[in-house]
Amino acid sequence: MKTYIEPPNFKNTNFKAFFTTKTTSDIRDFLKYSGFNEEDIYLPVQKHTDNIIVLKNNREPEVADAVLTSQKGLLIGVQTADCIPVILADLNKIVAGAVHAGWRGTASKIIIKTIKIMISEFNSRVEDIIIAMGPSIKGCCYQVDIDVERAIYNATGDGRYLSRKNGKYYIDLSEANKIQILSTGVPEKNIWVSNECTFCNHDRYHSFRFHGNYAGRQGGFIGIFK
Ligand SMILES: [Zn+2]
Repeated sequence: MKTYIEPPNFKNTNFKAFFTTKTTSDIRDFLKYSGFNEEDIYLPVQKHTDNIIVLKNNREPEVADAVLTSQKGLLIGVQTADCIPVILADLNKIVAGAVHAGWRGTASKIIIKTIKIMISEFNSRVEDIIIAMGPSIKGCCYQVDIDVERAIYNATGDGRYLSRKNGKYYIDLSEANKIQILSTGVPEKNIWVSNECTFCNHDRYHSFRFHGNYAGRQGGFIGIFK
């Protein structure tokens, strides 16, 4: 079974960028087995916040759900099980980013805030930013209550990400985040979205909704390695 997904829009760039599928080992061990040095891996302490770290020389894990860096040779990433692992890069200024977007992150527009920090801290231009969203729970399976639906609607507006079946609300988080990304001016052609639902494909992915507290984590990872 293939354990990596390489988003096509990151090929032939300065970045090493990939999503993982289900691994039996802890994600950090998996990355070490894959050839990354422990001291070159930075994973934030994720708490469904909208905290965004701009990583310079500090390596202490901090509470955050997004990381940006222009440091070479450092692998940053986020861990997920139904939420979306988002990786992004500025091809011109050479900046790498990773974002964990669950419903709370989507409701607090963490992806928009991350892009705004790329613009303010690194002088990024939206046309130079490329983005990939890894496997996540999709509109087929992500039933939410009205409070969650309203919170995401208030942050995103109308769109195909919202659906109703038998009086129940369903959300496609990747569609909602795509709408938010497009609102920043990042061109649609720069965005790649995995079409796999983690709940439907729970043999291949960890799904919190399917596996519950026993769910492991996959993730999205990116670094500047050229
Ligand atoms: Zn599904």
